Amino acid sequence: MVKVLVSSCLIGAPVRYNGTDKKVSHPILDRWVQEGRVVPACPEVLGGLGTPRPPAEVIHVQRDRRVVADTGRDVTSEFERGAALAVEQARRNDVSIAVLKDGSPSCGSRWIYDGTFSGSRVAGEGVTAALLRKCGIRVFSEEELEAADAAITEMEEDERRNVTMTDGSNG
Ligand code: SF4
Repeated sequence: MVKVLVSSCLIGAPVRYNGTDKKVSHPILDRWVQEGRVVPACPEVLGGLGTPRPPAEVIHVQRDRRVVADTGRDVTSEFERGAALAVEQARRNDVSIAVLKDGSPSCGSRWIYDGTFSGSRVAGEGVTAALLRKCGIRVFSEEELEAADAAITEMEEDERRNVTMTDGSNG
């Protein structure tokens, strides 16, 4: 079964910086939970940041990517640790797809905030989404559940075809 890493806040865990969740009520997500294919993870909590915590945004200093809280504290190392642990969790559970909360400095996959804490968005990705992609995991946002579900179906059909071919070659 293809497993899916899902941002914990999308399935109702109150782990966002302000202590809330971002629960998505969608039949695809409900079905994945019932099928037992969801592996929840909150990279910021994994990285050792508490809840609630000050909001943070990604900034680029020349070619260097940093994550800074609105208090001015540099939290890059916590974000990077959380990303590494999320990848480890994905690998341990044989995850090949992730559905992450867009806009987050960890989980954003299509856009993030621009680092000015003014609510302005830019195209980009969060620290965890970037690392998961680098490790070969396909990342979708919570707005792309249909596409993620189609990718799962395709992967499982490929797996079935491979098993049939292997069985056939054995005899
Ligand atoms: Fe949700 Fe990801 Fe932020 Fe955790 S780090 S609260 S999972 S968006």
